[in-house]
Order: sequence, then C-alpha cells, then structure tokens
Amino acid sequence: MNNLIRPQPGILEIAPYVGGKAAVAGVAHAVKLSSNENPFGASEKAREAYLRAVHNLHRYPNTDHAELRGAIADVYGLDAARVICGVGSDEILQFIAQAYAGPRDEVVFTEHSFLMYRLLAHAVGATPIQVAERDRTVDIDAILAACGPRTKLVFLANPNNPTGTMIPMSEVERLADNMPRQAILVLDGAYAEYVEGFDGGLSLVESRSNVVMTRTFSKIYGLGGLRVGWGYGPAEIIDVLGRIRQPFNLSAGQMDAALAAVRDQEYVAKCRTENARMRAWLAQALEEAGVPSDPSHANFILARFSSTEEAQACDAFLQAEGLIVRQVAGYNLPHCLRITIGDEASCRRVAHAVAKFKGTR
Ligand code: PMP
Repeated sequence: MNNLIRPQPGILEIAPYVGGKAAVAGVAHAVKLSSNENPFGASEKAREAYLRAVHNLHRYPNTDHAELRGAIADVYGLDAARVICGVGSDEILQFIAQAYAGPRDEVVFTEHSFLMYRLLAHAVGATPIQVAERDRTVDIDAILAACGPRTKLVFLANPNNPTGTMIPMSEVERLADNMPRQAILVLDGAYAEYVEGFDGGLSLVESRSNVVMTRTFSKIYGLGGLRVGWGYGPAEIIDVLGRIRQPFNLSAGQMDAALAAVRDQEYVAKCRTENARMRAWLAQALEEAGVPSDPSHANFILARFSSTEEAQACDAFLQAEGLIVRQVAGYNLPHCLRITIGDEASCRRVAHAVAKFKGTR
C-alpha cells in the first residue's frame, strides 16, 4: 500500500473490540456469563415471529419501521414519530456520533463506561474526554467541569456498564440543564428495563431539547443476536439521525421479532423479577465468599477482588470449571470481574466456584 493512503485521523487509535468469550475449549456444559445476555433467551413469541419472516425473504423490508416504532411508542408511552430503529443501540449511538461530532469536537464520557463511546469519538475524528468517577459512580460535577465550548456529546449510561451503578434522575437532570448549550446528552438505557418502575429518563427526553435516549432489544428482551435497538429524542434530532440511516438497515425478520418481543411485556416482567431475585442471591453469596460488589441495578454484578492478580487467577479458575465471565481490564477495572446474572443453576455454580477459589488462597 502506498503511504499516501491513510485512514481518517483517530481511526488507528481504536483498539479492536474484544467481545465476551464464547466457549471454553474442552469443557463440557460451559456457561457463558460474559456478555450480559438474558439466560432465558428470547420470548417464544419473538422466536415464532422470526421464523415466520422466512416466507418473505425475497421482499425488501419496510423502510420506515412504522409498525415497530408504533408498538414501541405504545408500550413506552411515546410519540412514534420520534422513535428511530437501528441495528442494535450501537447503530443509534453511531448515528448520533456521525451526525453531531467531528474533528475539533469533544465527546465526553466517564471512566468506567461502555467502550463504544471512546471508539465512536475516534471513528468520527473527535477528541474523547474521559472523566474520573467517584467510587465507581458517575460524578456529575466532574462531567460538568470537563465540558467546554467544544463539547458536542456527553454519553451517560444509567444503569452503567460495567459497574451496574445508577445515579438519581435529579442528577441527570442537573447535568442536562447545566451542560453547554451546543452539546447533546445521550442517555444510554440499555439496562433500564431491569429497574422496576424506571422509565430510563424518557420523561427527561420529553421535557428537554438536548437529551436523546438509546434502548436495546439485546438485554432484557433476550435478542442480542438479532441486533435491534432504538432511539428517542426531540423531533429535530431524530429527523437528522433518520437522514443518515440506510433505508433498509433492519431486515424483516429483525423487525418482526422485535415487534413480537416488545408486545410480550409479560415475558419482560418475568425476566426482570427473576434477574432481581438471582442478583440479590449472587451478590450475597459472593460477599460471603469474601468478594464484595456495589449494589447492581442491571443484569450483572461487578465482583471486586483484592488485586488484579487475584481477579485474573479467579477468571482462570472459573474458566477451568466451565464458567465464562468477563475481565474488565479494558474498562480500567483490572481487579474486577463482571458476572452476568444467569439462571439459578448457573448462579449457584458461580458462587460455589468463587468460594472454592477463595478457599485456595
Ligand atoms: N450500551 C451499553 C451500556 C451496553 O452495555 C451495550 C451492550 N453491551 C450497548 C449499549 C449496545 O447494545 P446493542 O448494540 O446490542 O443494542
């Protein structure tokens, strides 16, 4: 390749994404608890809808996602015209970065937050600004102090990945109201459905002109493999995002399955209840084994070890037992392991294995 062909500035700063490990070679009955997936899978209705879509494989899908947007709007109490659907919420986050940030702009996010925010900043040539947290919790004053005349986007996940912590909506409101006026607050609600009675901040989107929310079907809906997410925001912003969306970004199967899933709120409620039950159980079992964690509001626990070495050793120990969890060194938390809440049998296996590991130390 000649050396005049170069990628845009920032692209080579992006570290290739390393996902949760899929399997353990040679270990039967391995359990994957590394990607915050729903251990119960998708609702039966979503699976059936996906299979039915096979009959129309020769047809182009609808470009306007009207039915899916309508169903999301009904279930969440929103204006369907201001819902936009994408290939996972990752694609909505990408639209926002592409449309609103570029070279010389700054994109703000916190120390232990979703890796995609940094990647997107680099991808559009903007400068990523990482803000320190306080005890693994978002510090709004520190975010406000990091904002300036070049800030275009502030990304905030609530509950946050990988910490599982949440900040009160009054704090989020304070951020929205005191940020620079040229910046958008992107509220990432990937785990919002795990919090009983929480709207993720949708009411804040309704009442402010500078707040956009992203949501996903990958977590509580159990459709990570389907790749569907959505965004909600002020009409002007959703109009802009719609202009850069490819007309056929979602296939018919994706739309049909997501539509059936969002209509099956009984299944969502069941998953939320079971997650809360096993999360409390696992947190306590780990604590009793000498591994503390902050109260989590999501479908995972961030288990804290006494050192990086101990976290790595425990990860290897669990892997040998067929239990795949996530090292979070990439999130600047090398002494922690993120463990997805599995079904009861998986949670018991993890708790037992961690206690056994601690007994060897
Ligand atoms: N936001 C957060 C905080 C996440 O943890 C994830 C998935 N790991 C996403 C967004 C993206 O999810 P998806 O693209 O599957 O919707």
